[in-house]
Amino acid sequence: MEGEPEVVVLRLGHRPGRDERMTTHVGLTARALGADRLLLEDAASGRKETVTDITDRFGGPFDVEVTDEPLGVLRSWEGTVVHLTMYGLPVQDVEDDIRAAHREDPLLVVVGAEKVPFEVYDRADFNVGVTNQPHSEIAGLAVFLDRLFEGRELDREWTDADKRVIPQEEGKRVVDPNDDAE
Ligand code: SAM
Repeated sequence: MEGEPEVVVLRLGHRPGRDERMTTHVGLTARALGADRLLLEDAASGRKETVTDITDRFGGPFDVEVTDEPLGVLRSWEGTVVHLTMYGLPVQDVEDDIRAAHREDPLLVVVGAEKVPFEVYDRADFNVGVTNQPHSEIAGLAVFLDRLFEGRELDREWTDADKRVIPQEEGKRVVDPNDDAE
């Protein structure tokens, strides 16, 4: 988020066909809940446009990039690496240490699709479980980001949006943020 070291989500292991919607939702969740950037591997490059389109309409800043070397990104990351995995240490036990690390350095958050290479467990500074039960990368990422930012991401301001949703008790209201009449 603005004024803080970058938080980047790396989506590993996209299976074409099967993971299209999950990968899109990893991106949308990363964007909505305070991450700055999404890294997709080549196999998932088709998802870039969908996430970028949402950013164009609903605001940013949020970047999506495709890399043909996702493990290279991990190996050369200059900062802290968090790997979300059901086998990791409970998020509630390590979140303070991760926040302390993030005050100093950029954070790479790795989420898998199916099986993640052991190298990721080895390279990660923190292998983090959101419970030690199997569930989904989208749910794990959402809880992790909310813990990381301690809820501040919910009040984030969005820039360069074409649309802004005005919260309603009932119904839907969407305005153009550039329109003074709002
Ligand atoms: N047994 C698989 C594994 O961890 O290798 C589970 C794959 S799961 C369908 C896909 C991704 O969801 C995992 O790579 C991990 O990033 C995330 N995930 C699933 N359960 C999680 C949990 N309890 N805590 C954190 N992340 C989780």
